Amino acid sequence: MAGRILVADSQASNRILLKAKLSAAHYYVDFAEAAGDVVRLARAGRPDVVLVGLTGTLDEALSACRALRSDPATADIALIALAAANDQAARRAALEAGADDVLNAHCDDALLLARIRGLMRARYRNAEYGLHQDARDALGFAEAAPAFEGPGVIAIISDDTDRAETLSGMLAPHLRDTIITMTPSDLLDDVSMAVKPDVYIINTGPEARKEGLGLIADLRSHAEGRIAGILAVLDEGDAAGAVTALDLGADDVIGHPIDPIELVLRLRLQMRRKAQTERMRRQVSDGLRLAVTDPLTGLYNRRYALSHLSRIAAHAVETGQPFAVMVLDVDRFKRVNDTYGHVVGDAVLVEVARRIAGGLRAVDLVARLGGEEFLVVMPETSVEAARIAGERLRQAVAAQPFSAPGLPEPLALTVSIGVALGGSAGKNPADALVSLADRALYDAKAEGRNQVTFSQSAA
Ligand code: GH3
Ligand code: MG
Ligand code: MG
Repeated sequence: MAGRILVADSQASNRILLKAKLSAAHYYVDFAEAAGDVVRLARAGRPDVVLVGLTGTLDEALSACRALRSDPATADIALIALAAANDQAARRAALEAGADDVLNAHCDDALLLARIRGLMRARYRNAEYGLHQDARDALGFAEAAPAFEGPGVIAIISDDTDRAETLSGMLAPHLRDTIITMTPSDLLDDVSMAVKPDVYIINTGPEARKEGLGLIADLRSHAEGRIAGILAVLDEGDAAGAVTALDLGADDVIGHPIDPIELVLRLRLQMRRKAQTERMRRQVSDGLRLAVTDPLTGLYNRRYALSHLSRIAAHAVETGQPFAVMVLDVDRFKRVNDTYGHVVGDAVLVEVARRIAGGLRAVDLVARLGGEEFLVVMPETSVEAARIAGERLRQAVAAQPFSAPGLPEPLALTVSIGVALGGSAGKNPADALVSLADRALYDAKAEGRNQVTFSQSAA
């Protein structure tokens, strides 16, 4: 499970020290001796984490951080800066330059390793969404990050009202976001609540330290908390608490005494990260939707319909119930195109799709097989029920003429429908049933169209 870490530090002694710590934890370690080499080495070595030392030449280290963030090939690599103790200016500057965290260069080894684990976990979590920029671009899902993220909601979790108010008062002048305060029990009662915080600040204080840490795991296990940011506020020097918080799933920790500006920078980072995760989720679900639907009618496409049909067929074997497969084809549709043009033809097809879909149960599937042909799959449907449903669909088209922009007068249309029954014995595989329904459709056409015909070799 070893990850790869690129250590960038101008001081050899720091590099050696870090190499010893990280190798002992089974990471592969590469080095960049000059900050100017960081992006090149990161592009070549694809590390999971870059550690940048700020104790040498600060400006160069900061520009390496910015360069890493602005190069699309390296922008999603986790970045930890290591600053001298109490160098508040360097800490803020590193967070502003895009670091995911700034740790004290001489921090507890366990804390450094917990931080690395946490960031790697977040990285793999995001990788699940298949978000590598090139793949997204290739599939056409890319959605540019908005230059401006709207204000969000930050929840401060504490039983101690004074404690919560102090923190809220510290943050309010610096943030446009809504800040709410909640007790731990409010939170647990109400995780699927109306207000959905983007970031939770766990600020339970030393008296409720254990409870606070427990909340992190609770939050993470809820759907809402799974993608929200979680930041734990810990007491001064509580490295063990920080390690536990990170391992339980906190995205970030901050110790007392709190520098409000640093906390604001960390909160902004969490807000951005959450927005990014949501954007990626949306892209994946949009991509899935596009992959299974027909763009003209919004119905499922052939590929999805055939895989769905296989599942229905398997389900029928389990339940012992028959199911119906229908292929519908618009009669003499070529004439519509020839007479009125393709655009009118398309509009009519959209209406045909709407009428077919409107004549079915929620469990039925309707898809566009292509052209002016549709497939309907009706689970748990007997021959009699299929006959009634087929007739209903035929009438849904034939009973009322179609109107569309570009049609001089309402246009009468009909469909022919071929039906095959899938049996509980699972005798016919899914695609064979479609062929049977297709053959029945051919018979319907031969017998004069506008009718429902059953396959003779059904079930
Ligand atoms: P029948 O099925 O009754 O035998 O006659 P038909 O005229 O419907 O049959 P045919 O398969 O010969 O023609 C189907 C026509 O459907 C051909 C094409 O003009 C039209 N068509 C297919 N796909 C589309 C589409 O996406 N949009 C439009 N507007 N027309 C389409
Ligand atoms: Mg046709
Ligand atoms: Mg056809």
